[in-house]
Amino acid sequence: MIEVIDDGEWIRPALDPSALDLAYFEAAAEGRLIVQRCDSCDHRQFPPKTLCTNCGATPGWMQTAGVGEIHTFTVVRRHGVEPFRSMAPFILAMIDLPEGARLMGNVVVADPEVVRVGDPVEAYALRIDARMALPLWRTPGLELTGGPDGPDMVVGIDAAGDSRP
Ligand SMILES: [Zn+2]
Repeated sequence: MIEVIDDGEWIRPALDPSALDLAYFEAAAEGRLIVQRCDSCDHRQFPPKTLCTNCGATPGWMQTAGVGEIHTFTVVRRHGVEPFRSMAPFILAMIDLPEGARLMGNVVVADPEVVRVGDPVEAYALRIDARMALPLWRTPGLELTGGPDGPDMVVGIDAAGDSRP
């Protein structure tokens, strides 16, 4: 299960997901990070598609452990549109799950400079409304600070005291 945080105000653009994508956001609101799994060939995939990209069968869903590793990432330092302009710098990453899917998402940290490829991350979810939540990622061991952007901000030193240059 992943933690679902409700900070009381959804400031990002409204989501209007397709029926296929809706299952992902609804599961997140229930504390579950899910990806598609093909019942025929066991292929795991994300984002959701109507067909298995490996064999063409109709995929189902599976719950993941909600953990992963940063495959690659970029630091978005400037953005032209609010609320993302005020959120910058922020990290957009590709996350490899042990279950075999690769997801894109934000890794939420106070200082993007401490993040490295290969870092372990864990999912949590930010509530959008009564029905949906948005999965986000954070680095385990980093303390929540409750900074100006809310409870999803973290400090850049991990529990082991690893202050990377
Ligand atoms: Zn398949």
